[in-house]
Amino acid sequence: MEDEEGPEYGKPDFVLLDQVTMEEFMKNLRLRFEKDRIYTYIGEVLVSVNPYQELPLYGPEAIARYQGRELYERPPHLYAVANAAYNAMKRRARDTCIVISGESGAGKTEASKHIMQYIAAVTNPSQRAEVERVKDVLLKSTCVLEAFGNARTNRNHNSSRFGKYMDINFDFKGDPVGGHIHSYLLEKLLRGSEDQELQGLHLERNPALYNFTRQGAGLNMGVHNSMDSDEKSHRAVTEAMKVIGFSPEEVDSVHRILAAILHLGNIEFVETEEDGPQKGGIAVAEETLVGHVAELTATPQDLVLRSLLARTVASGGRELIEKGHTVAEASYARDACAKAVYQRLFEWVVDRINGIMEARDRDPRRDGKDTVIGVLDIYGFEVFPVNSFEQFCINYCNEKLQQLFIRLILKQEQEEYEREGITWQSVEYFNNAAIVELVERPHRGILAILDEACSTAGPITDRIFLQTLDTHHRHHPHYSSRQLCPTDKTMEFGRDFRIKHYAGDVTYSVEGFIDKNRDSLFQDFKRLLYNSKDPTLQAMWPDGQQDITEVTKRPLTAGTLFKNSMVALVENLASKEPFYVRCIKPNEDKEAGRLEEGHCRHQVSYLGLLENVRVRRAGFASRQPYPRFLLRYKMTCEYTWPNHLLGSDKAAVSALLEQHGLQGDVAFGHSKLFIRSPRTLVALEQSRARL
Ligand code: ATP
Ligand code: MG
Repeated sequence: MEDEEGPEYGKPDFVLLDQVTMEEFMKNLRLRFEKDRIYTYIGEVLVSVNPYQELPLYGPEAIARYQGRELYERPPHLYAVANAAYNAMKRRARDTCIVISGESGAGKTEASKHIMQYIAAVTNPSQRAEVERVKDVLLKSTCVLEAFGNARTNRNHNSSRFGKYMDINFDFKGDPVGGHIHSYLLEKLLRGSEDQELQGLHLERNPALYNFTRQGAGLNMGVHNSMDSDEKSHRAVTEAMKVIGFSPEEVDSVHRILAAILHLGNIEFVETEEDGPQKGGIAVAEETLVGHVAELTATPQDLVLRSLLARTVASGGRELIEKGHTVAEASYARDACAKAVYQRLFEWVVDRINGIMEARDRDPRRDGKDTVIGVLDIYGFEVFPVNSFEQFCINYCNEKLQQLFIRLILKQEQEEYEREGITWQSVEYFNNAAIVELVERPHRGILAILDEACSTAGPITDRIFLQTLDTHHRHHPHYSSRQLCPTDKTMEFGRDFRIKHYAGDVTYSVEGFIDKNRDSLFQDFKRLLYNSKDPTLQAMWPDGQQDITEVTKRPLTAGTLFKNSMVALVENLASKEPFYVRCIKPNEDKEAGRLEEGHCRHQVSYLGLLENVRVRRAGFASRQPYPRFLLRYKMTCEYTWPNHLLGSDKAAVSALLEQHGLQGDVAFGHSKLFIRSPRTLVALEQSRARL
């Protein structure tokens, strides 16, 4: 077969290694990577190494080579995984999902795009208009969401600062008829705009002039030479929004809201003179900025100013009083407002896209139930020089996904062998349940303790929160702090705690944990924006209608909301047939063709890839119920074609394999055949193709 590759390209499946050791694994990974073979299987799991260069692996011709094939028929590829998920969905009407994991910059988002392209390319042969529309929106939505949700970080120039789970709904013909996106947004940021528009928005072109684009953890958007491409992509995004179905008014609103956020970020506060009109209070340094914000948000300027300088509080019964901010309080409230506006804007964009993608063409014969392929592309494990609440959430999310991986791939296999009566060598694997518990356990988990701290009336500091953590977790094997390890100078006293993650140790600074978790925004801003004359902006603030005295119920914290969405996500994934893509970042410098040994070993070990290989080997590459196996291969054997007379399907399969000389590579379970090596599958496929 033209696609069979010789031994000089290494082993296409790590299951075929002579020995399962880190050395052998790395040797094979390197050998393949150096020959531009960036994909390798572990059974049905795809390992992918980011090449950091354009390789001729994608496009219509490549897609055609994978279309309708079995996983092992062609060299390992994302297309093969996409195709396998698609086949499982179509042939067995099973909901499937593709979980893409790996650290920041490992290639998750690129992988998800290739998967989408594959699915778009192989569906809708009859060119139904409605299906084409859905496909178009599915593909273009990625570009729009990236424009709002990605940032340049030092680990990845196009880093996704939001997690994305996208369901694609298929009808009984296997064509996409709708989709739905869940976003898991953590950080909020901005992009450049075009000159002409900038003037109307009172904006200068240099992003370095805006506090929000200039600063921010690891953001690097003030660089001049990146502006050209920023502008180009900005135009592309505007275009994409219009094509997807956003109205011109909506696109304008979005631009105005973005500009308002930038101006808002530049507003500074000063203390006023004792004898001034606002005695002992504060004022804004530059009133024109307030004017810009008011104009852009279609709100009255005096109300914008009031919301910036003071907040309304309900005192005693129902009496409302206005309480002036200090400079620090006003600056904090300003930033909270800007971030909230950005977040609402992003959520609104996602909602609009979901509305546009909603399946319209449901087949009534199927009770409106479509089959689904879900694609998960979510932030990878993250370690910065200083790690805060955001990294804490991201890494917790990765612990959850790792746990799911362990549960589904490792445990599931083990249990199946036991069920089928196949001899099983137990494999030791690192179970991270204790770490997940440390974070999410009710009452005593880190998130619960944080919530408790946030609901305490009166001043509560991050430091007190840290002390509480120390008290509760001093004996936890995955937790430490300087207080508990006084000699460990890599942590700062009263500021840091450390979690031993499955992927490695991460030190978190508690600074800002309480504020970020509370994520509070004064009702005055919500009401202000709800009363905007801009219908798009108004629609983003339904909670602005509430009366101040009604807003007594404590809203859920950011941490708890995130935890709930993670629990729901994992439950959803667990109900589907999973396919995994495990992405590896070859070096920290985004350099093409260089695989840095230590860096990769670390990822291989924390992704649990060796354990994965051991389980597969112990372990079989494939398993199929006897009837399904016969259906596919009975024509390759005279005893089984067209029907066998051998008493049982199991006996028939045995006879078939004996005729091919393949009986040594399999084990017979109670209801399924277990095939050790992918070679056997290839051999069977070939004898089928020869007929
Ligand atoms: P994050 O968690 O920060 O969002 P990520 O895992 O989504 O990271 P990507 O944005 O997919 O990472 O990849 C980072 C960069 O690596 C891409 O912008 C692209 O330049 C390069 N890259 C990734 N995959 C490929 C590929 N298959 N071929 C060529 N280049 C790639
Ligand atoms: Mg990404």
